[in-house]
Amino acid sequence: MFRALVLENDGGFRATVKSVDAAQLPEADVTLAVSYATLNYKDGLAITNRGPVVRQWPMVAGIDGAGTVFASSHPDWQVGDLAVHNGWGAGETHWGCLAETARLKGDWLIRLPQALSLRQAMAIGTAGYTAMLCVLALEDHGLKPDAGEVLVTGASGGVGSVAIALLGSLGYSVVAATGRASEETYLKALGASSVLDRAMLASPGKALQKERWAGVVDSVGSHTLANAVAQTRYGGVVTACGLAQGMDFPGSVAPFILRGVKLVGVDSVMAPRARRIAAWSNLASEIKDDMLVKITKEISLAEALAWAPKILAGEVRGRLVVNVKA
Ligand code: NDP
Repeated sequence: MFRALVLENDGGFRATVKSVDAAQLPEADVTLAVSYATLNYKDGLAITNRGPVVRQWPMVAGIDGAGTVFASSHPDWQVGDLAVHNGWGAGETHWGCLAETARLKGDWLIRLPQALSLRQAMAIGTAGYTAMLCVLALEDHGLKPDAGEVLVTGASGGVGSVAIALLGSLGYSVVAATGRASEETYLKALGASSVLDRAMLASPGKALQKERWAGVVDSVGSHTLANAVAQTRYGGVVTACGLAQGMDFPGSVAPFILRGVKLVGVDSVMAPRARRIAAWSNLASEIKDDMLVKITKEISLAEALAWAPKILAGEVRGRLVVNVKA
């Protein structure tokens, strides 16, 4: 038996922490003793059933996990290896990692980078790994620290906090867009040079606006993304990875056809393994432990139930690490 955060929907939706028989674990070639998981925005949607995240029931929640292999028939994974899991449908179509035990495909897992502990890996989690995918995409499209200001939206959230820390440590001048003026000190301590009220980006705007951003990391979507694109400088790069304001994109082609602005979509769930390994390797070298300490709060499996609606309400600062044994 193992404890898990289980989502059920048989005549009524329920999210509970309960004991599950290991015989019910799904088919896959690696069994992981999970030490830490996390609570991401998508986990919040799943645990509250506010978005169509879960595709089969019952489901063990948790898109991320880090732990120790205790059984494996996969040639690359031996008992005792330390592994990190992000995405691939865990917590959506395959039982996830908000549990003491998870059975996952060896091809999905990546090795814990030597510089990181299991807890640090989950302090980063999918949100931090996605932030790194955004930074890699900006740089792949030619962004350099001397190009000018980089806007990070959803700044106090998981993706935003890690993106600020990464861009700041790489020498970029980062402007953090937030709805929480009280987080200015936190955002500047992470590496933001200045803070912008997110209300300035949240409403319908003109197709072309005053050029300001050399690059953008957007985890908010909707009017915020459209305005960010409209304010991006000639040849600048915008990465879009989230929908905290909305899934719509009420923008114009004008910035693309008149300013050569590049809009790059970023997906973490199905990202190829080589890209994941590159992202985690960069995270291991760029993210400093004092940064992770600033952005992380640890909670238990049972507490994850109460934190799920708070992450959707934008009330979580940085990252939530779930100690699945607590
Ligand atoms: P968080 O909830 O931690 O952060 C989201 C932040 O967005 C909030 O903290 C808040 O920041 C801001 N925000 C919330 N509501 C609104 C709103 N209505 N309008 C404008 N800003 C708002 O979530 P994550 O950082 O974990 O994820 C952010 C987004 O990225 C989510 O939509 C998530 O689904 C997506 N995502 C996508 C991935 C991918 O693979 N493409 C992977 C990971 C995440 P503040 O208070 O500072 O304004």
